[in-house]
Amino acid sequence: MKEEKFQPKGKTIQELSEFLKTLGEPAFRGMQIFQGLYKHKYRTWEEFTNLPKPLRAKLSEYIELADLPVGFHMVSEDGTQKFTFKLEGGKEVEAVWIPRGDGARKTICISSQVGCTLNCSFCATAKLPFQGNLKTWQILDQVLSVERIVGDHATNIVFMGMGEPLHNYFEVMRAATILHHPEAWNLGAKRITISTAGVVPGIHRYIDNKEPFNFAISLNQPDPNTRSEIMDVNEKFGLDKLIEAAERFVRELGRTITFEYVMIPGVNMSDKHIQLLGKIARKVGNCKFNVIPLNTEFFGWTRPSDTMIEDFVTKLKSASRVPVMNRRSPGKEIGGACGMLALSGTNNS
Ligand code: SF4
Repeated sequence: MKEEKFQPKGKTIQELSEFLKTLGEPAFRGMQIFQGLYKHKYRTWEEFTNLPKPLRAKLSEYIELADLPVGFHMVSEDGTQKFTFKLEGGKEVEAVWIPRGDGARKTICISSQVGCTLNCSFCATAKLPFQGNLKTWQILDQVLSVERIVGDHATNIVFMGMGEPLHNYFEVMRAATILHHPEAWNLGAKRITISTAGVVPGIHRYIDNKEPFNFAISLNQPDPNTRSEIMDVNEKFGLDKLIEAAERFVRELGRTITFEYVMIPGVNMSDKHIQLLGKIARKVGNCKFNVIPLNTEFFGWTRPSDTMIEDFVTKLKSASRVPVMNRRSPGKEIGGACGMLALSGTNNS
C-alpha cells in the first residue's frame, strides 16, 4: 500500500469505505475514518480510538498521516495570523486567520492554487509563477493546521487566498463539501465563500451544479472598456458576460451574490464608476458590495484615505440601493491582507 501512496485525507466517505473494503474491513469503517480526520481532528492512527486496535496497527504500518508542513507563521497586532505551508518541490501556499474584534466571526482565508494564471494588477499572487492546483487534502490541511495552531475553530472559510478557485473547480468544491459535511466541520454553506475573478464558464458550472456555498465575484472595475487594464480575465470573459452570469445566479439559485471591490484611487472610485456600479446592482438585483481598500502599491497606486472610502461607500449605497460593506483590511503589516499573499515572509517574495 505504501507504494500506492493512498492519502485518506480529502477522500469522501464512500472512497474511504471502498478502500477499507480492499483491506477486508466493513464499509462503515470509512465513516469512522472520515469522522476521525475531520470531526475529531486526529493526527495519528493511534488517536483513532473509534477503530479496533488491530486495524489501527495495520493502518499505521502502511499509511502515514502527514500534515502539510508549516513554514512561516506571523502574528499581527490586530490578531490576524498568516501561515505559509510547504509543498513538494519547494512550492508554498498561504492561509490567513482573521478574527473579528468581538470574537464572533473567525475567518480562515485559504489558497486553492500555487500562484495564479490570472493577472490582476493589484494582487501580489499574480507576480508569482503558476505552479499548479492544490489537492483537496492540501486545501483542507490549511484549515486543520491553522485551527490547531491558533487553538480555535473558524466560523467562516473564504476561498480568497492564492489562486482562482474556479480554475481548480473539482478539488475546491470537494473541499468545500467536506467543510460543510455534518460528520466533518459541519460549517453552514453560507459560512463558506467561493470567490472568482470572473471565470464565466466556471460560474455557469457552479449554477448548473446548484452549489450551495456563498458566492462572490471580484469585480473591481465596472467600466467594460477599462476592466481589462486591471484584470486580464476580462479579455477572455468580458464584463457583459460576467454580469449575465451574475444575473443567472440570482435568478436560478435565488440567492444573493457578492461583488468584491478593491478601491483604487484614480482607477475605480470616481462618480462615473459609482453610477456604473449602481447600474450593475439594479440589473443583477439581489446583490451586495464588499469594498476593500487597496493594500498593495504596484504602479505607484496608493491606498484610499479614510475620507475617500467613506465618501465612496455613502455614494455607492445611494446609487445602488443594495448593502455596501466596508471591509476593514486586517493583517496589513504581516502581508496577510487582501491582495498581499506572497508579498512577504515567504520564499516567493
Ligand atoms: S486576485 Fe485572485 S484571481 Fe486575481 S491574480 Fe490574485 S489570486 Fe489570481
